[in-house]
Amino acid sequence: MRDTWPLLEEIAFPPIRRGRLDTLQVNVGYRCNQSCVHCHVNAGPHRSEEMAGDVIDAVLAFLGGRRVSTLDITGGAPELNPHFRRLVIGARAIGARVIDRCNLTILEVAGQEDLAQFLASARVEIVASMPCYLEQNVDRQRGKGVFDASVRGLRRLNALGYGREETGLVLNLVYNPQGPELPPPQDALEADYKRTLGERYGIAFNRLYTLANMPIQRFGAILVAQGEFGRYLELLQQAHVDANLKQVMCRNLVSVDWRGHVYDCDFNQMLDLPLQNRGRERLHIADLLATEVEGEQVRVAGHCYGCTAGQGSSCGGALKSETAAH
Ligand code: SF4
Ligand code: SF4
Repeated sequence: MRDTWPLLEEIAFPPIRRGRLDTLQVNVGYRCNQSCVHCHVNAGPHRSEEMAGDVIDAVLAFLGGRRVSTLDITGGAPELNPHFRRLVIGARAIGARVIDRCNLTILEVAGQEDLAQFLASARVEIVASMPCYLEQNVDRQRGKGVFDASVRGLRRLNALGYGREETGLVLNLVYNPQGPELPPPQDALEADYKRTLGERYGIAFNRLYTLANMPIQRFGAILVAQGEFGRYLELLQQAHVDANLKQVMCRNLVSVDWRGHVYDCDFNQMLDLPLQNRGRERLHIADLLATEVEGEQVRVAGHCYGCTAGQGSSCGGALKSETAAH
């Protein structure tokens, strides 16, 4: 697979400094029961990298020690990490809000039959990918049969109270475009999703997050192979909105990889650009406990236009409606 970093590195991006840390986003491993076309982690069933128990302990120590309000757990399919439930229970016990980036089909994988119930009991917020409300588009991007399995997963979560305002069990969906284009306006698409999924399948959810595809990893390699990389980057750059710089997620988030190393965001993690702190490279989450990163410079390059183009894009959806979405 062609690495897009040499192309991205040459593209200038406005400087960003870190603000107050409020979210720890932890990638607990690359193993996944799916192998989606756009996956920026190159996750799949054959990846074996996963966060070990001692790193999970360091994450919990950091959350408690620094009073970080939100733990955002991602993967791969994070639930496949054998320490996943311990991490969730530990984080909830110290009062953190916990988000699980769940692919929905994992709810049907053997050994995960009680997962939905576990998430509901621990009051974990679920963010689930649903790149379209049309079966054909979802199956093309995420694999055959994924749409039907996702619908079954959503119904199961609804039955437990997820996605209904009165229960407080939050179920947010994520949309990303099929190809090299910007996502449509988030609020209008959310209304379409709510109407279509509600009418056709009886599914309810809280918010829809629209995210731009990042020109890195699997999606970046496809762009290069199809000769579309330059055009997509130009599209992102032309749509850049300066005001989005104030809200990009790297201002308030630290991303942790499966080994415990820290990065400014999940995308920098995938590009192997470690968070820089006073000239030190490769900080570990255990070192971060005694390290202040507020005010530090974020490592930016061409891919960052994926966060600032148009309505903006973050792990909490479009930036212009960030306060409502996250
Ligand atoms: S479900 Fe998510 S982590 Fe798994 S392959 Fe698809 S995009 Fe990647
Ligand atoms: S890609 Fe990462 S570093 Fe760049 S703007 Fe987005 S969140 Fe910040």
